[in-house]
Amino acid sequence: MKRWDVIIVGAGPAGIFTALELTEKLPGASVLMLEKGPEIHKRICPRNTLARGCRECSPCSIVSGWGGAGAFSDGKLTLTPRFGGLLPEYVGRQEATELIEYVDEIWKRFGAPDRVFGADEEAVSSLVKEAARAGLELIPARIRHLGTDKCPDILKAMYTHLKDKVEIRTGVTVDKILIRDGKVHGVALADGTSEVSATVVVAPGREGAWWFSEEAERIGLSLEANPVDIGVRVEVPAVLTDEITDKIWEFKIHYYSRAFDDLVRTFCVCPRGEVVMENSAGVITVNGHSYSGKRTENTNFAVLVSKTFTEPFKEPIAYGKNIATLANMLGGGVLVQRLGDLWEGRRSTARRLAKGMVEPTLKDATPGDLMLVLPYRYVMNILEMLEALEGFIPGVWSRHTLLYGVEVKFYSSRVKVNSDMETEIPGLFAVGDGAGITRGLAQASASGVRAARAIVRRMQARP
Ligand SMILES: Cc1cc2nc3c(=O)[nH]c(=O)nc-3n(C[C@H](O)[C@H](O)[C@H](O)COP(=O)(O)OP(=O)(O)OC[C@H]3O[C@@H](n4cnc5c(N)ncnc54)[C@H](O)[C@@H]3O)c2cc1C
Repeated sequence: MKRWDVIIVGAGPAGIFTALELTEKLPGASVLMLEKGPEIHKRICPRNTLARGCRECSPCSIVSGWGGAGAFSDGKLTLTPRFGGLLPEYVGRQEATELIEYVDEIWKRFGAPDRVFGADEEAVSSLVKEAARAGLELIPARIRHLGTDKCPDILKAMYTHLKDKVEIRTGVTVDKILIRDGKVHGVALADGTSEVSATVVVAPGREGAWWFSEEAERIGLSLEANPVDIGVRVEVPAVLTDEITDKIWEFKIHYYSRAFDDLVRTFCVCPRGEVVMENSAGVITVNGHSYSGKRTENTNFAVLVSKTFTEPFKEPIAYGKNIATLANMLGGGVLVQRLGDLWEGRRSTARRLAKGMVEPTLKDATPGDLMLVLPYRYVMNILEMLEALEGFIPGVWSRHTLLYGVEVKFYSSRVKVNSDMETEIPGLFAVGDGAGITRGLAQASASGVRAARAIVRRMQARP
């Protein structure tokens, strides 16, 4: 049986950047990439072509396939180590910054646009001041926006670059990580065959996080619970946010609630974008997109409450899934409610929505009552944050503002890795969102580069 130099599980940004770095630094290495979803041009969500509703495909074309969740992401490359993951905890802030700069150059080489938002320090510091006056902490971040429409082209270019240098197999699910004599030995596939290598890089993303945490437990890796972020996606007229988003694209705001002292934050701002549904292993949640070419009349962003559970509870992912499942149960998918209806303690209906000033960009959402889904603590935290935001973005605390639920960020259980992203099992590396280490494109890509460099060093040191 062929022994591969390296096997990569998952072809999202973390897996792709592992492959890019390996082929760049070790052109002769034999690398096998295994991806359970389809090739990028076959990633078609039936919701876009059929009448209505999520078809609950498995794997889901939005998050699985070449490019991973990155392919149809909003494509904001956050160019600071303060956001998008925990990489600095492993490699240090300086190295994380350098890795992010390095991967940013690669994204640019494959077609990312030149413009960087949030680079005008004067404009940023005046916004920081305005937010502080409203009792909010605006954290500056430089952002390169690829756009949901541009991401697939960039990832396609990476595919074209890699396809003759590594063996890429799509539509192949890895079932088990094989261990022999305490070291990684390869992977077993869902079709009953196996592939052998003494170096396996696991990059399964959020979609594969559940699978990986089960595998990690089975093979004896230490796992640490990460927080789970639960909240809503907020949609407002874009005219309210244009002045801010034109300068910094994304307002990253932190707020500690008076009621519970919980961290509530804005996340993934999509100026003049669209609210979208996402299917994470059968659970339908909400997310946002914005395009580099197409502009809508609305801006959307998430307001999320971060919660780290303490002993004895160890299943934050299951907790988040259960809340999302409640929304699915009531609304058949995503619920949408006007803020005014939530204040009044009543559900939104199609008739009430039609009276609103904000036309929902997600047509598939069911008008409903988020109070029946979200725990009191979450609703209170979200309402407090929105009221405070009114001081920074006048018009947000309006009865017309739309809330979609629920948005859940499953940040996977964190697998113990060293600064090379190697787990406690020699030769087994874990990178990206699925390892619980990163939460965004830039850090996911950077973690792949870091693992690849360690592998290259070892292979070059071999006689
Ligand atoms: C709608 C949306 C918008 C987003 N917008 C942004 C944004 O603007 N900025 C940002 O920084 N981030 C954004 N993100 C997050 C970003 O996409 C992820 O952080 C990033 O893609 C993580 O990269 P990854 O390689 O770790 O995992 P993923 O991109 O999730 O890729 C993992 C791949 O592994 C495959 N896989 C899983 N398990 C297996 C298995 N057992 N066998 C074989 N293959 C497997 C999956 O099918 C998937 O293709 C967004 C995500 C979504 C869904």
